[in-house]
Amino acid sequence: MKPRIAIDGPAGAGKSTVARALAQALGLTYLDTGAMYRAITLSALRKGINLSDAGDLARLAQHISIEIRNDGPDNQNMVFLDGQDVTEEIRLPEVSRNVSVVARCPQVRTILAARQRQIGMRGGVVMDGRDIGTIVMPEAEYKFFLTASLEERARRRQAELEAKGEKIGLAQMMNELSVRDQIDSGRECAPLCPAADAVHIDTTEMTIEQVVRKIAVSTGRSA
Ligand code: C5P
Repeated sequence: MKPRIAIDGPAGAGKSTVARALAQALGLTYLDTGAMYRAITLSALRKGINLSDAGDLARLAQHISIEIRNDGPDNQNMVFLDGQDVTEEIRLPEVSRNVSVVARCPQVRTILAARQRQIGMRGGVVMDGRDIGTIVMPEAEYKFFLTASLEERARRRQAELEAKGEKIGLAQMMNELSVRDQIDSGRECAPLCPAADAVHIDTTEMTIEQVVRKIAVSTGRSA
């Protein structure tokens, strides 16, 4: 079976960009699990659902259709919510600000983790998220936990938003990321934390290419 590679870490550590490039280089499938939580959040915001109501969120998660396709530019996941392309919209700051509250809901996690596990079982996948090495694919052959300083992570997110024409101050970005990290690490169900056997990589002073190469080498391949 082709390898399963789990990549976890806090927001802005470079997981998605690295996972996408790595999957492309190694001919594996890429799954951005954060995109699924973002899609549910977008739907809840659109429908005006109370994000603290676990019952409403669970019902929403059961009834909406989230489809992830692997045919976006640069191997990006394309995300479809009830048939509508929401690939761009799930990155809106309002979704980023609310997604951790939705992802805290155990019923939502059960539904999404089951789908992620199904994809993982096929093998040949690079999956990034918060609980991939611990909960979704604890049996993955390779596990990595990416980190970077809060300031560097905020700078990266700022640059991403700026490329889309949105401006946000560094202090505000740092604050938003640290609030999200606290909720993700502090929740009872599947908190953000490294698997005991994960390889830790601090990406603060590394380029994406360097991180991709380092991971590929750790898995006995070259990228
Ligand atoms: O990876 P990204 O930053 O897009 O993830 C958005 C949010 O989705 C995270 O802050 C977290 O709350 C949630 N998430 C999660 N478990 C995952 C992936 C993402 O709780 N496996």
